[in-house]
Amino acid sequence: MTTSTGKTNLLGLTQPEMEKFFDSIGEKRFRAGQVMKWIHHLGVDDFDAMTNVSKALREKLKVCAEIRGPEVVSEDISTDGTRKWVVRVASGSCVETVYIPQGKRGTLCVSSQAGCALDCSFCSTGKQGFNSNLTAAEVIGQVWIANKSFGSVPATVDRAITNVVMMGMGEPLLNFDNVVAAMHLMMDDLGYGISKRRVTLSTSGVVPMIDELSKHIDVSLALSLHAPNDALRNQLVPINKKYPLKVLLESCQRYMSTLGEKRVLTVEYTLLKDINDKVEHAVEMAELLKDTPCKINLIPFNPFPHSGYERPSNNAIRRFQDQLHQAGYNVTVRTTRGEDIDAACGQLVGQVLDRTRRSERYIAVRELSAEADLAQSAVTRT
Ligand code: SAH
Ligand code: SF4
Repeated sequence: MTTSTGKTNLLGLTQPEMEKFFDSIGEKRFRAGQVMKWIHHLGVDDFDAMTNVSKALREKLKVCAEIRGPEVVSEDISTDGTRKWVVRVASGSCVETVYIPQGKRGTLCVSSQAGCALDCSFCSTGKQGFNSNLTAAEVIGQVWIANKSFGSVPATVDRAITNVVMMGMGEPLLNFDNVVAAMHLMMDDLGYGISKRRVTLSTSGVVPMIDELSKHIDVSLALSLHAPNDALRNQLVPINKKYPLKVLLESCQRYMSTLGEKRVLTVEYTLLKDINDKVEHAVEMAELLKDTPCKINLIPFNPFPHSGYERPSNNAIRRFQDQLHQAGYNVTVRTTRGEDIDAACGQLVGQVLDRTRRSERYIAVRELSAEADLAQSAVTRT
């Protein structure tokens, strides 16, 4: 992709694209692998550091190419090891990336868009409206920045980042090409070498793009369900009016069937007090999902100002979970542990509230990735 400088930004190029690029400047294709290792394994953005590339080629690259990630506005490290970056993308907006360590696992939550057009009623990203799609370089750039902060290491050795979830800002399926390219780089050994089971795309249900996704990539899929029937889901997740539950679940089943093996869909369900947290909702959900092999993640609502929603009581959450358990589902409740991150929020006052709210959501994701590891052996309803 050509940037405002008129140069090709090599950061977001997949291996085939990188080979094409070297073809186009009259160089050998094997240069692609060499340069990709410098960029992704070693975090290099300076052609002069690429010592196995001839001086002449380095000079040529400096003229027509660059390696440019999004600008890091801030990096916070919390006492529990959680890290959070605010990065500025080309449109001028800022998005967040959060790293959540847990034992041997490290999960990176990556944003796909600045804002979101889908306007789910309980989501503060949605409340901000849509600003811009991130480029492939800006999506993979978040992984690049995080990896560099740990001291970049090749894909073949133990890494700090073991899992990536596309659960930051935005609807990843509405920025399809860029997100797919970036996810290829996450999985490619010349990129970050992360297993396809440990790269998860979360969607609110853009049905045609779920079908399209299976033609391009085999990452894990998470569905943001949030309601067990169309009437309620239409209110909470407006895209449901276009793609109602029946067609949505069918598309998820189709996607999962292309993955084969024993991989199951993750169903996310944000619990909103007195809205979707009643036992009868759990009963209805158990029935709705009976033909969809899945594991369920219940996410107690993370409040933000003027949302109009509240988090249910622990008892209500427990009752909801028990009901699904009894119906035979593998169901986990996300805990929120964002307090010390809130303390880390400092500058960018206008964004603190949003950052805080999303951080809590990211913390909840920590256990989601734990389950991704167990997915192979998980007892799930079939
Ligand atoms: N757009 C995608 C991915 C980003 S949102 C999607 O909707 O799936 C990631 C997850 O956080 C979604 O399940 C979303 O519903 C949930 N979420 C958004 N706002 C939340 C809030 N205030 N409290 C708890 N979960 C929230
Ligand atoms: Fe967009 Fe996801 Fe938020 Fe809905 S929940 S508004 S799809 S980011």
